[in-house]
Amino acid sequence: MSDIPHTTFLDEVAALPACGKINECIQCGVCSGSCSTATHWEYPPRKVIAMVRAGMKDELLKSNSIWFCVSCYLCTARCPRDIKPANIVHGLESIAIKEGYKPPTTTTTMYRSFAQSIVDHGRVYEFGFMLKYFLRTNPFAALKMLPMAIQLFRHGRMPLAPKQVKGKEELTTIINKMGEGGDR
Ligand code: SF4
Ligand code: SF4
Repeated sequence: MSDIPHTTFLDEVAALPACGKINECIQCGVCSGSCSTATHWEYPPRKVIAMVRAGMKDELLKSNSIWFCVSCYLCTARCPRDIKPANIVHGLESIAIKEGYKPPTTTTTMYRSFAQSIVDHGRVYEFGFMLKYFLRTNPFAALKMLPMAIQLFRHGRMPLAPKQVKGKEELTTIINKMGEGGDR
């Protein structure tokens, strides 16, 4: 008999930060009913939790579910069992990225461009962040945004040059410390 402990998908998810109550879900569906993007998910939040508990890892991580969460936390505020579905969904994103599942959306590219902008400038530099995002995904899609970009620029709401925040070094230290906690 092997001494290696057998870790199930459920154990893996339950070990993620603030996801330990997943087994107490009563499948009431309040999370799915509260979720503004659930209509786009192949499996809505309630079912995502059921699939984790059923060990359906590959089917779940290959689906478009989890990538459409916009972090509104309504599911988490309303869950009668304090399950924190949003944390579970974001934890599943981490597992999917680490294990090489390819997101069926450009959400992670958006996250990365946004986060990189904060790392580089200490705040979001809208023009640079959007430019990077479109160059990495679909440069032609940027053309559709051009009229809005011109309006923002004319009203001084989208400067072409980045501004740096004060205390950038301290912020970099904080970000590096957070990075030691693992990838997102
Ligand atoms: S609201 Fe909470 S208890 Fe109800 S299905 Fe969603 S996670 Fe489970
Ligand atoms: S936090 Fe995510 S999963 Fe929860 S309701 Fe909002 S979009 Fe849906």
